[in-house]
Amino acid sequence: MDEPLSLPLAAPPRRRGRLAAHGWLLARRCSQLAILALFLAGPLAGVWIVKGNLAYSLTLDALPLTDPYVLLQSLLAGHAPEAIALTGAAIVAAFYFLVGGRAYCAWVCPLNMVTDFAGWLRGRLGIRGGAHLGRQTRYWVLAMTLLLAATTGTVAWEQVNPVSMLHRGLIFGVGAAWTIVLAVFLFDLFVSARGWCGHLCPVGAFYSLLGRKSPLRVSATRRAACDDCMDCFAVCPEPQVIRPALKGEASGAGPLIDSPNCLNCGRCIDVCDRDVFTFTVRTPFRRDPQ
Ligand code: SF4
Ligand code: SF4
Repeated sequence: MDEPLSLPLAAPPRRRGRLAAHGWLLARRCSQLAILALFLAGPLAGVWIVKGNLAYSLTLDALPLTDPYVLLQSLLAGHAPEAIALTGAAIVAAFYFLVGGRAYCAWVCPLNMVTDFAGWLRGRLGIRGGAHLGRQTRYWVLAMTLLLAATTGTVAWEQVNPVSMLHRGLIFGVGAAWTIVLAVFLFDLFVSARGWCGHLCPVGAFYSLLGRKSPLRVSATRRAACDDCMDCFAVCPEPQVIRPALKGEASGAGPLIDSPNCLNCGRCIDVCDRDVFTFTVRTPFRRDPQ
């Protein structure tokens, strides 16, 4: 099922305090901004803790971090990567394999703040409807970007990738970057709800595949306490991932949110005043903890 529900944006939680209802959201905004600050501290203030950008960086002149999606494009383009870039990609891939691939979207990607804002504003302005895009479209876009690299011999997608462009725009002030970011914002606001991140972005698609079997998952552990208020569906950026775990007991489905498109963002945990959801660790021998 692709789009299970069409709901207004989050109704205010009923019993939780404002802070408790936004705990994970605040934590990940802090994470996104802190990571940005680390990248900006060098060019803007001469404090070089981190050198580089999201595609490749070196922290404290010792820790290489390479975006494995960019590395894959580079390999397909026929470029031979340096050993340090391969090491950096292995570190990043291992990290997201453990914490959930799309944790990159919720906790790191700077564009997530733009698309979240567009989604919030769309709800406030009461904008409904728009273009219908299948959620699998992002995997086709991903395949096309890889094909593009293989056929052109260049990492062509990275010249227009909105995620990289926003990062470059912030660090180096590249003017064209802002046009692309604005286009994504307007697309999400007027054309398709959660259109970019939820349907098109190949970066999110790549990371979802990377974290397909990640141990860290959200689980609807106390789903029997659910009172059908639908707050979690309303705030979730990928609401289709919730239903099997929350409502699948009758059909034998476990409470683990198993979809690789769950961002591990924690918003469902934030807003549920019945404490239905929690982070959990899936063990290799027990696929769906109860
Ligand atoms: S889907 Fe793409 S743009 Fe959206 S948060 Fe993830 S990587 Fe960033
Ligand atoms: S299910 Fe919860 S943690 Fe996963 S994307 Fe939705 S709100 Fe975020």
